[in-house]
Amino acid sequence: MSNHQRLRQFITSFAALLDRESGEAGIIRAGSALLRELVAVDDWLPEAYAQPDPERYRQYLLHVDSAQRFSVVSFVWGPGQQTPVHDHTVWGLIGMLRGSEYSQSYRHQEGALLPHGEPIQLTPGMVEAVSPHVDGLDDIHRVRNAYDDKVSISIHVYGANIGAVHRSVYQPDGTRKAFISGYSNTTLPNIWDLSLETKTR
Ligand code: FE
Repeated sequence: MSNHQRLRQFITSFAALLDRESGEAGIIRAGSALLRELVAVDDWLPEAYAQPDPERYRQYLLHVDSAQRFSVVSFVWGPGQQTPVHDHTVWGLIGMLRGSEYSQSYRHQEGALLPHGEPIQLTPGMVEAVSPHVDGLDDIHRVRNAYDDKVSISIHVYGANIGAVHRSVYQPDGTRKAFISGYSNTTLPNIWDLSLETKTR
């Protein structure tokens, strides 16, 4: 299978999943299985979407569904980089492709926003979910590269065009600040030129 085929097949399968499944728990269950397949092999992410930035973690958009039902993003962590505590407001799946990251959940408890449970360490092939609606999942977390000497990359899938979603980051004192993440890239990978793969000879 060529590199582009893997991502293309994932996108096609995910769209088909959303055509037949509308419940969030079902989408997370079946979507996690699809994402697990995608991150099981690390040979498909184009180099341009795997580049770290010394200043800040990068979020490269790989695909947005034409109806903005879902988006696929490559998160590239430079050594030691981390997110602020943030929410998503839609379901999200995180598949570890390369390296490792920690995700720490937060919950509102007694008027404060506090870490909930132990941080989860993701290693290549693992998939985690966030959701504001599904029992047992949290929507607020902080994610960081598990390494301070190498790059880590995870592939995220969200139930919206996540870069355009109005959401929040949280200060240590629990203060909420409006936030729209945007994307680091201005051009998308061209994974749709089938002529490169269907050449007859
Ligand atoms: Fe997140």
